[in-house]
Amino acid sequence: MENQGRNGKRLVLVPGPFQGHLTPMLQLATVLKSKGFSITIAHTQFNSPDSSAHPDFTFLCIPDGLSEEEVRNPDLIGIVLRLNVNCESSFRECLNQGTNHMESGDKICCIIYDAIVYFSEAVARDLKIPSIALHTSNAATTIVRPILLQLKAQGHIPVPDSMLQVPVPLHQPLRFKDLPLSNFGSLDYFLEGIVLMYNIGSSSAIIFNTIHCLEEPPLAQLHQRYQVPIFPIGPLHKLAPTSDVSLLQEDTGCITWLDKQTHNSVIYVSLGSIAHLNQDQLSEMAWGLANSKEPFLWVIRPGSILGSEWIDSMDEGFKECVKDRGCIVKWAPQKKVLAHDAVGGFWSHCGWNSTLESICEGVPMICQPCFGDQKVNARYLTHEWKVGLELEGEIERGTVERAVRTLMKEKEGEEMRQRVLDLKHKVEVSIGDGGYSSHYLSELVELLTSL
Ligand code: UDP
Repeated sequence: MENQGRNGKRLVLVPGPFQGHLTPMLQLATVLKSKGFSITIAHTQFNSPDSSAHPDFTFLCIPDGLSEEEVRNPDLIGIVLRLNVNCESSFRECLNQGTNHMESGDKICCIIYDAIVYFSEAVARDLKIPSIALHTSNAATTIVRPILLQLKAQGHIPVPDSMLQVPVPLHQPLRFKDLPLSNFGSLDYFLEGIVLMYNIGSSSAIIFNTIHCLEEPPLAQLHQRYQVPIFPIGPLHKLAPTSDVSLLQEDTGCITWLDKQTHNSVIYVSLGSIAHLNQDQLSEMAWGLANSKEPFLWVIRPGSILGSEWIDSMDEGFKECVKDRGCIVKWAPQKKVLAHDAVGGFWSHCGWNSTLESICEGVPMICQPCFGDQKVNARYLTHEWKVGLELEGEIERGTVERAVRTLMKEKEGEEMRQRVLDLKHKVEVSIGDGGYSSHYLSELVELLTSL
């Protein structure tokens, strides 16, 4: 194991095995490493991170017992529930073996785990090691998720069509259609997962990758709900800008393409690492973009279009029409893209990482949430912070064309750009000296040092 850190204090960090979860945990690891702690990343075999990209960390692979078939299964909730069952004893075993190899004086002072891999808390409790949960979604989602069980018991979930636009009592600005439900697997499994995920057990604190200036009211509610310290220390990608965490190969050629475009002219399109599209949705998005006449950079993940490998099924007429104006890649260096001078808008599924990355670069958004917390984020973007346009209902080329034009060319889009630049500035203040995120980070480091 690498050299001892803060007086031999080692932290074991357990990420959730999906891109949007690995990313913030590895960024947190980088931040805590810079504060002098030694870092071990204990990860599942499934979607394991590239250890060679992080020579400063020690890696422990937890055998997860998932079969090939389970890994290919799109039922993510099922995978999460199974991992939590399978990994408890193997993680304990891994820790015991890891401890045998540790240098004398090196002590695991805390296990920091993603709330979706709650088996880590059970192991920590069992081994009498303090633990802290990391929530990779925002505070508003954490506040509203537990009421889903209540709403189900009252017969409001699944949400009937007549309720979709109705505000959720005590949870404004959310409507019933914005509730963070999952698209995967059975509702009962999902709700079972929520109960386990939001029970922090014996954990000493909760870390959030969020920022006080974005989520003051939900954070205040969280402080009341949980009897432990809450640390909103985001945006982690700005605190650890060098952390390289992509599970897929980034196509850097799109930066060369962006270099040739003019200021704020390009709309960047990406639906993140999990969402899928069917052929009709792909076609409507494509023709909406083509008809908008605006330049675009579009990420289409291989395997994300149901029924085709990649863009093989795409209309040749569309490809011809946009050949001078569009760039399509399999995976982009997103943070660099959003920071590029040519990018003036982001059409996004509103994953929490993407949301933070866009705000931090002052890029207004078109919001097309697919499931889960994306719907909460989209509602906040469009109705609370007012830095995004809502794309509602079925994707349709006319609506897409109008939304792209509005964002990129019209006054409404320009006003959103101004507001998101204001938010960007507030976030910068938060991570600067004396800002909220800096303050909470110092408190977190103090707590970890005291353990
Ligand atoms: N991302 C990327 N390249 C892409 C698309 C996405 O690097 O082409 C990154 C993005 O920067 C973000 C993460 O993948 O950090 C996606 O996380 P998010 O929470 O936005 O959505 P999820 O993938 O979990 O739905």
